[in-house]
Amino acid sequence: MNENTRIREKLERICCNNLAACTDRQLYEALLTLVNDMAKEKETQEGKKKVYYISAEFLIGKLLSNNLINLGIYEDVREILARYGKDLARIEELEPEPSLGNGGLGRLAACFLDSMATLGMAGDGIGLNYHYGLFLQSFADNLQKETPNPWLEEKSWLNKTEVTYPIQFGGFTVQSRMYDILVTGFENRTNRLHLFDIETVDEGIVGEGISFDKEDIVKNLTLFLYPDDSDDAGRRLRGYQQYFMVSNGARLILDECRARGSNLYDLPEYAAIQINDTHPSMVIPELIRLLMEEGIPMDKAIDLVSRTCAYTNHTILAEALEKWPMDYLYQVVPQLMPIIRELDTRVKEKFAGESLAIIDKSRRVHMANLDIHYGYSVNGVANLHTEILKNNELNDFYKIYPEKFNNKTNGITFRRWLMHCNHGLCGYLNELIGTGWQKDAGELTKLLDYAKDPAVLTKLLAIKQENKRCLADYLKKTQGVEIDENSIFDIQIKRLHEYKRQQLNALYVIHKYLEIKGGKRPATPITVIFGAKAAPAYVIAKDIIHLILCLQQVINSDPAVSPYLKVVMVENYNVTKAEKLIPACDISEQISLASKEASGTGNMKFMLNGAVTLGTMDGANVEIAELVGEDNIYIFGESSDTVIGHYQKADYVSKKYYEENEDIQEAVDFIISDELLAVGKKENLMRLHKELVSKDWFMTLLDYESYAARKEEALADYEDRLSWAGKMLVNTAKAGFFSSDRTIAEYNRDIWHV
Ligand SMILES: *Cc1c(COP(=O)(O)O)cnc(C)c1O
Repeated sequence: MNENTRIREKLERICCNNLAACTDRQLYEALLTLVNDMAKEKETQEGKKKVYYISAEFLIGKLLSNNLINLGIYEDVREILARYGKDLARIEELEPEPSLGNGGLGRLAACFLDSMATLGMAGDGIGLNYHYGLFLQSFADNLQKETPNPWLEEKSWLNKTEVTYPIQFGGFTVQSRMYDILVTGFENRTNRLHLFDIETVDEGIVGEGISFDKEDIVKNLTLFLYPDDSDDAGRRLRGYQQYFMVSNGARLILDECRARGSNLYDLPEYAAIQINDTHPSMVIPELIRLLMEEGIPMDKAIDLVSRTCAYTNHTILAEALEKWPMDYLYQVVPQLMPIIRELDTRVKEKFAGESLAIIDKSRRVHMANLDIHYGYSVNGVANLHTEILKNNELNDFYKIYPEKFNNKTNGITFRRWLMHCNHGLCGYLNELIGTGWQKDAGELTKLLDYAKDPAVLTKLLAIKQENKRCLADYLKKTQGVEIDENSIFDIQIKRLHEYKRQQLNALYVIHKYLEIKGGKRPATPITVIFGAKAAPAYVIAKDIIHLILCLQQVINSDPAVSPYLKVVMVENYNVTKAEKLIPACDISEQISLASKEASGTGNMKFMLNGAVTLGTMDGANVEIAELVGEDNIYIFGESSDTVIGHYQKADYVSKKYYEENEDIQEAVDFIISDELLAVGKKENLMRLHKELVSKDWFMTLLDYESYAARKEEALADYEDRLSWAGKMLVNTAKAGFFSSDRTIAEYNRDIWHV
C-alpha cells in the first residue's frame, strides 16, 4: 500500500468514512488528530542528555501546514482533499494563530524548536500557556486599539497531560498543569513544547480593552503575555509568571532526568538548560533550592546548576535588562531570597566591582548578572552584538570569564519561511537545483550558477510578481485597501520601537509625498507597507503608529499622489501576516540605529525570499552584507562605533540636523502641519514632533540624509529589472547561512553537547 493510500485511509477513518460530507471545520479537526497521531509515532526516548529551552515566549505561528510539511505529507493531504473538492488552504485559515510571543525573541525560540527536532536532537521547550497571549491590534481614529486575543479552542494542538506541581508563592500555593504541543522535525523526530498553566485562570476578569485586576494572581497568572508593566502590580505579576514558569520547568527537568537514570549529582550529563533572555533566570536559584531539598549540599548544588545552565543575551538596551527590586522578590518568592543572597555574597567575596554584583546598592537583583556568574555560557545573537557585549556592555564580565562568551548568529527555519510561505519560489528552486537545500541550506549557493541566466532571472521576477498579486488580493480582502501590484513593495514589519526607526521611514514617506505633490513623480509607483504592534504603555511608539496611520489617510486619499505613492499599515502584524508579506517584498527595510538591533531575524526571512535589504550596519545585517557583497544590498548610516561614541560623549543634538537640513525640517514639520492635524490628534503629533526635534534618543535625524540618498539609489536600480533580479538571486543563494539548523548545530557543538 503506498503512502498516499495509507494517509487517505487514516483520514477516512478519523472522518468516520464520510470525508466528502465533512465541513472544513471537521476536516481541520480531523487533520489535528491525524498529525498528532503521526507525530507521536516519531517520538523517541533515545539519548541520555536533553536540551531544555526555557523561554517566556514561543511565537510558533499556525502549525497545521508546517507539521504536514515536516511529516512529509503536505502534498498527499492536499491532493487527497482536492479529490473530494476540499481546499487545504481554506482549511488552514480556520486555525487560530497561537498568541504566545511578542516578536523576534519568541519567533527565534519557535525556529529553534523546529531545528532541534529536524536535527534529531532531544530538545524540548518550556514556557507558559497564556490564554489571551499578546493583544489583538486594531486601528480606530488612526490609533492602536488593544483587545484580548483568545486563541485557545476546544480542540487544538495542546495535549493536556497528567503532570501537575504545587507552586509556592509568598503566602499561597497554586497547582499547575502541563500542556504539550508536539514539535515535528522535518523528516525526523518529534519533540515537545511544554506549556504550564493553572486551572483557576478566569477570563471573566478582563474589563475594557485588555484591563484586568492585576492583584488577583490566582485568576490572572497566565491570562496575558507580559501584562502592562508600567505600574507596580503589573511588574509584580510578571515576577509571578516568571517564577511559575521556572519552578514548573525545574521540577519537570529534575523528574525527567531522574527517569532517564540521573542521580542528580550527574545533572549536567542529563540536561542542558538554555535561558532565553533573562525572563527565565530564576531557574538558577530555583534549581539550587530544589537540589538542596533533595539533600544535596549547597556548594555542590551551585556547582551542578552552574554546569547545566547557559544564557542567551538578546539586547543591549539597558531598560530591557531586568532588575528585580528585592522587596518584590520577598513578596513573590521569599523562598528564593536566601539563595539569591548567598549567590550574591559569594560574588562579592570574589569580585569588588559594583558592575559585577548580583544585588546592587539600590537592593535590586540583576538577572543577567546572576546568569553570567552562575551559568557556563553567555552568547550574543550576531557577531556585532557579541562583540559589543564583550567590549562594551558586559566588558567587566568578559574580563573575568572570557571563556564563557561566544556568538551564535540567529537563524530561521526554512521550512516555514520558504517551503511553507513561498510555494512558487520553493517549487522553482527544487526544479532548478534539486531538493537538497531543504536539508542542507548551504546548497542554495548552487543558484549562483544561474546569476546571469536571463531565463532564470525572468522566472524569479514572475514568481515575485505573482506573490505581489496575492498580497494585493489579501490586503484588499482583509483591510479593504487597494494597492498597485506593479508598484515597488517597500516593507518594514517588526515591533514598533524607536530604535527600529519606523519614524525614519515615515519621514522619507513625507518627503516623497511632498516631492510628488510638487510634480516630481517616481519612475515606478511605490507602496510603503508597515506592520507593527506597540507595547500598550509605550507612548512614543504609539505616536509613531498614529503618524503612519495619519499619513496613510492623507496620502492614499490624495488623488494627485496616490497613483504614485501609497502607505499601508497592516493591522495586527503576526506570523501569519508575515508569511504573506515577506514573499511579496522588493525592498526590506532593516534600518535600526547601528548597535541597537542585536540580530534581527526578519532581515533573514526577507533575504531568503529574494528581497533586497536597505539597512544599517547593525545586527545580522552586517553578516548579510558580507555574504551578498555591496552590489546586492543598500547600506547606509553611521557605524556602531560612531553611534556608541555619540552616546559616550553625549554629543548628539538632533536640533542641529533639524535646523541645518531643509529636507529634514520640512518632513519633521509636516508632522504638525494643518493637513496632518486635520486627520490626527494634536497632542500625539505635537509630542512626536517635539521628541524628534529636542531629544531623538535613537538618532533618527543623524541618518536621514544617507537613508534618503541610498533609498533613491535602490528605487532607481529597481528599474533595470534583470539586474535587480540578479540581486534577488544572490540574496536567496547566500541565505543558507541563516538557516536555524546551522545555528542549532553550533549551539550543540559549542554549548549543549547532546
Ligand atoms: C520574524 C518576526 C519578528 C522579528 O522581526 P525583526 O525584524 O527581526 O524584528 C517579529 N514578529 C514576527 C511576527 C516575526 O515573524
